[in-house]
Amino acid sequence: MEFRYFMPVKTFFGRDCIGKNCSEFLLLGKKALIVTGKSSAEKNGSLADVKKALESVKISYAHYNKIEPNPSVEEVREAALFAKKSGVDFIIGIGGGSPLDAAKAIAILTANDIDDDTLYSGVYKNRPLPIAAVPTTAGTGSEVTPYSILTYNKINNKKSIGCDSIFPAAAFLDYAYTSTLSSETTINTAIDALSHAVEGYLSARATDIIKPYAIESIRLIGECIPELKKNTLKDEVREKLLYASMLAGIVIAHTGTTAVHAMGYPLTYHKNIDHGRANGLVLYHYLKFLEPSIEKVRHIIDALGMKSTDEFGNAIDKLLGDRETLSEAELELFTKTAMTAKNISNTVPQPDEKDIRKIFEESFKR
Ligand code: NAP
Ligand code: FE
Repeated sequence: MEFRYFMPVKTFFGRDCIGKNCSEFLLLGKKALIVTGKSSAEKNGSLADVKKALESVKISYAHYNKIEPNPSVEEVREAALFAKKSGVDFIIGIGGGSPLDAAKAIAILTANDIDDDTLYSGVYKNRPLPIAAVPTTAGTGSEVTPYSILTYNKINNKKSIGCDSIFPAAAFLDYAYTSTLSSETTINTAIDALSHAVEGYLSARATDIIKPYAIESIRLIGECIPELKKNTLKDEVREKLLYASMLAGIVIAHTGTTAVHAMGYPLTYHKNIDHGRANGLVLYHYLKFLEPSIEKVRHIIDALGMKSTDEFGNAIDKLLGDRETLSEAELELFTKTAMTAKNISNTVPQPDEKDIRKIFEESFKR
């Protein structure tokens, strides 16, 4: 057996975990930049809880609330300028994966004056500022990953920064913040978490220590699938989804993602399809592609509590509703783009261009 296991995020899980652990912020610095999206952090109570915690330990803060879904390199550069002007020495990301990933890139760029190539290199002269993460979606697991995925307009795609120095120092997971999520975002983010666990389990980099995390995450999400279409989710379902998404984050922190994410990025970049939905659209046909040669697909279906890959296909169809269509030119472009993503190399067996095109074709067949 051989593996590397590294999970340096001090993780607090449970109701009011921020209020109960305010002093943790004292370990991170003297002035915080709170990074959020436009409005959700105000509505779900997470922003107020963080501000109250900071005030109780006398840490001052500035707030940057302009992060859009799928943040771009340009956006995080603007935010880093604001961070420098505000004189902050640590960053608190609150929100879905977008503000959390933005917080990580801002932490790098506030400490380093660098060009885009160096930003994506993962090697920095100065250590990025310490980061705390408060997820308010149950999907990306960004609170426990060393990744920041940014829209990179120079290559007309999304691209991931990956390095140990952007693991958050602390993460606070309180499922109460996810209760304001729309049904659509709840479904899309749950599918993102499921993709992480499934792709991680199947990845060329899956290790013995990480596989049980993946299977447990898949099992928990499998239990939630019948609930996801309901208008109101019980607290215990919200809690389970947040826990499962964190487990799946720990998985991809070690394994990376695979062809599904590589195929999802151009769908998001060019067609503005939500990240989780984009993965969900291709996930079933990815499993169908692997099924004949990879026994592990069976373990995944078993963990979901389902009888066959087709049962999974039907369940995901119900969650996603009507599918978008792809033109011939889009099929061509998205196939070529997916083949250039670094996560393709984690996929076993390695798909070639024809395989990826076929998965796209099958996934968007009318
Ligand atoms: P998101 O883009 O962060 O947020 C989507 C929408 O949900 C926004 O409109 C946001 O509103 C809203 N929202 C967030 N929390 C809410 C809440 N509690 N109640 C109501 N609305 C809420 O969505 P996401 O799917 O979590 O993140 C996707 C991003 O994460 C993508 O860029 C993806 O590439 C990245 N990602 C990163 C990793 C990683 O390891 N780092 C892994 C997978 C995906 P506001 O804008 O007002 O906040
Ligand atoms: Fe993802």
